[in-house]
Amino acid sequence: MTTTISSNQRVALITGAGSGIGRATAEVLASQGVDLALVSRPGPDLDSAAAACQSHGVRVLKIAADISDSGEVRAAFAKTEAELGPITDVHNNAGISVVAPLVDTSDDVWSTQLATNLSGSFYVLREAARVMVPRKRGAIVNTASELALQGQAGYVAYTATKGGILSMTRSAAAELASWGIRVNAVCPGTTRTPMFLAEFDGAADPSAEFAENEASVALGRIATPTEIAKAVAFLLSDDASYVTGTQLIADGGRSGCFPVGSIGVDATTSV
Ligand code: NAD
Repeated sequence: MTTTISSNQRVALITGAGSGIGRATAEVLASQGVDLALVSRPGPDLDSAAAACQSHGVRVLKIAADISDSGEVRAAFAKTEAELGPITDVHNNAGISVVAPLVDTSDDVWSTQLATNLSGSFYVLREAARVMVPRKRGAIVNTASELALQGQAGYVAYTATKGGILSMTRSAAAELASWGIRVNAVCPGTTRTPMFLAEFDGAADPSAEFAENEASVALGRIATPTEIAKAVAFLLSDDASYVTGTQLIADGGRSGCFPVGSIGVDATTSV
């Protein structure tokens, strides 16, 4: 039996799709009937993410690639277009976080952090533009971070990459708007993913640090990957047709709300 693919069929390429936020975006888009190219480092995570998405009945392509290699990124886009058809959506999401005091941040750590998060995101963004511009349609979401907007000790290299991603987002949106292509960023707050949980490995008292982290969020808890994925899915969808060149901050209110109440005001009192 041959499957007929509609010209309206959405095809999304997601980087970092094996785990955390990328995997959650893949599952949300799969539930909406979007065909998927899942790009990630090789391993069992990629297989399990693909199986979860296939259960929604969409076509799923697994691509093991390193986004810090521009040739591998180009090949991933070419393979997707050859096997699934024109790419309509890109979630440019893969990233790493190396936490270190500034004085101990070696040249190697700095280069590795930049190679994946900033150069890798640039290669994906550039390739997305190359395939979308001739068709004059498409939507791209770059994963930045709340740390693109605020500083935190230990994250000088990481924040440099995330600030760069926000700047790239705005310039790419300005350049691609005339082709009908929207480019936005999502700025997740702390999200329960393997990346975040790994940062507790070196903590003296992980549960105290976890509680402190949650207490600084207005909503009083860290995000699930699916909550971030739904923000990404909105930005990729036609519901966001007038949204480009901006960032959606999904941080549970951490950046927008003062972390302590006003003196003498009990906001929990009912009126
Ligand atoms: P994660 O570690 O769970 O997932 C990251 C994914 O990226 C993995 O699938 C990994 O294989 C892939 N990846 C890493 N380097 C790669 C490379 N060079 N080439 C291809 N794939 C690569 O992490 P996560 O928390 O889901 O993070 C996803 C994105 O969200 C990252 O850009 C991260 O900076 C950002 N972010 C995370 C948080 C958080 O609290 N978890 C907060 C803000 C922003």
